[in-house]
Parts: sequence; C-alpha cells; structure tokens
Amino acid sequence: MIDFRSDTVTRPTSAMRHAMSVADVGDDVYGDDPTVNELEQWAAKRHGFESALFCSSGTQANLLSLMAHCERGDEYLCGQQAHNYKFEGGGAAVLGSIQPQPIENEKDGTICFNKLAAAIKPDDFHFARTRLLSLENTINGKVLPLAYLAKAREFADKHDLKLHLDGARVYNAAAALDVDITEISQHFDSMTICLSKGLGAPIGSLVLGDKAFIEKTRRWRKVLGGGMRQAGILAAAAKIALTEHTKRLSDDHDNAKYLAEQLNQIDGFSVNIQHVETNMLFAKVEEKINQDQLVKSLKEQGILLTGGQPMRLVTHLDITRQDIDTFIKALKLAIA
Ligand SMILES: *Cc1c(COP(=O)(O)O)cnc(C)c1O
Repeated sequence: MIDFRSDTVTRPTSAMRHAMSVADVGDDVYGDDPTVNELEQWAAKRHGFESALFCSSGTQANLLSLMAHCERGDEYLCGQQAHNYKFEGGGAAVLGSIQPQPIENEKDGTICFNKLAAAIKPDDFHFARTRLLSLENTINGKVLPLAYLAKAREFADKHDLKLHLDGARVYNAAAALDVDITEISQHFDSMTICLSKGLGAPIGSLVLGDKAFIEKTRRWRKVLGGGMRQAGILAAAAKIALTEHTKRLSDDHDNAKYLAEQLNQIDGFSVNIQHVETNMLFAKVEEKINQDQLVKSLKEQGILLTGGQPMRLVTHLDITRQDIDTFIKALKLAIA
C-alpha cells in the first residue's frame, strides 16, 4: 500500500520491533518500568524540561496538559483551527470543565496578539479565568516562525498566562527551520510530541514540563484510565523514533515538494508550492474530476488517498520518491 492519508499510518521498523522484543519492562503505574523511566528522563533533558510523561496518544497528551494547567472554570486561548479545540471531541470542556476561547488563525497559522489580548477576560466573577495560551506547531503543515514564538513567550509573561505547545509535529517544524528542537521548546511551559506520526513509532506521545506540572498530568492520566503497565514495550520503539527518525524528516519535506510539483503537471490539480513547508500538501481539485471514483480506483491499485476540497496528501517514513512516481503514473491513467 502507498498511503498518503496521514503520517500516522507508518509501520514500526524492524529495529523498533527488535527493541520492543528485548525491552526491559515493569509496571509503569508503580513507576517500575525501566524503559519508560529512561525514555521520560532522556526526553525531558533532550527538550530542556525538568520532567516528562509517556502516554498513549496526542489527544491524551493535550488533554492532560490542559487539565494540569487549568482548573474547573478556567479557560485557554487557542487557534480556531487548533487540534486541541477542533479535533479532540471537546475533551477539555467535556472532562476538564475548561472553556476554550478560540481565535481565528492567520493564514500562516499564527494567532494575532491584539486579538488574543482582546479575548483575555478581566478578573471578575462574571468571566472564566484566562490561564493559558495554547499554540500548535506545525499547524496544517505550516511552521510558526521562531520570532513569533519569542513574542508569544513575552505575551504570555505580560498577561500572566502559561504557554503550551501542541507539538504533535514539532520535529517537522525544527527540520523545516533547520534548528535544534530546543530552539522551539525553550519558549514553552509545556509541550507535547506525537511519536506515532512522522517519527514512526506505533503508539505514544510525550508531555514535557516542570516537575509539579508533570506530576499533575500523571495523576490525570490515571484518572482518565491511561495508566499503562508494561509500557516499556512501547517506549522502546518511541526512543528509536526520537533518536533515529528525526533527522530524516527533511526527506519527507523534499518528497512533499516533489509530489506538489508532479501534481501541478496534472490537469485538474493545483498546489501552491510556496505553501508546502513540511510533509503536508493541499491540492485544489477541479470539479470535473470525480474524486469518489478516483479514490476508489486508486485504492484498487494499492494507493490510498482521502478525498476533499482541498485534498490533503501527507508524506512519511513509508513513502519513497518511487512511490510518488508510481502514484503519479496511476493518477494520470485514472484521469485519462
Ligand atoms: C494528530 C494530532 C494530535 C492528536 O494525536 P493523536 O495521537 O491522533 O491523538 C494532536 N495535535 C495535532 C496537531 C495533531 O496533528
């Protein structure tokens, strides 16, 4: 299968499978899993935080972070397009009694500081207490500029807010900017990382923050039923994702640009190459193309796409240059 639907579809490599099979394990709820402990300690240090928590998914990592930063009746500021507002089932409101205050994202994925400032509620019992600004990087494949992150830190300090990064794909941002991950993480009180997207682990996300914050997330993780037992089996693959697979993300970015160029050669498809910053591209597909039929016919040939307007295509560990050529050839035939 050549699967362009998401970078979550990657399969664990044989090195991961091997590491999983020989991992030392224990009961992580007791704090007894040496592989989880090692991953958490290593990850905290690597990203410039005091402490880390390994958990099951990016959604859980974000929810734990929101619940650790905010109490019942507090609110968080975020983008209208933020994953932790729009795509996580309203978890912070449902399970944390935390009110989201979304603000329209600008075209480049940033949120305007004037609009954010206007949304901060006065200290008055009529209002929810504004506690947190949550950013996302990358957001829909776009990279937030480092200067914007520095300004966000100043803004948060000025308004006495905590600053969280949904960094599901933060390593893609670091690769696109060609900077060490700490150039990004240094600005934040907390950060999450998905290990099961472009980094290729089968399962798992990290929450990073100071010690007191991570202890709160550990408590909420248990409350939410997310305490795992011999999770070292997963942490072993996660460690390889972080040590071996971060450097190759620029290959995915190059492949996404290549894919965009190829699609632009095809009648009925257009991609703005300028907007292809990482491993994700959005193609405008003309009405004359029957997307349902196209998706079905390509699926029969082992090529998976998600239809849509625009159509999102994602490159990853399991997509090579040759796979892209195979896809483009099949696409040309299908359209003809
Ligand atoms: C995928 C994603 C998440 C959630 O991760 P899951 O592991 O799918 O729960 C959170 N934030 C962003 C930006 C994502 O892309």
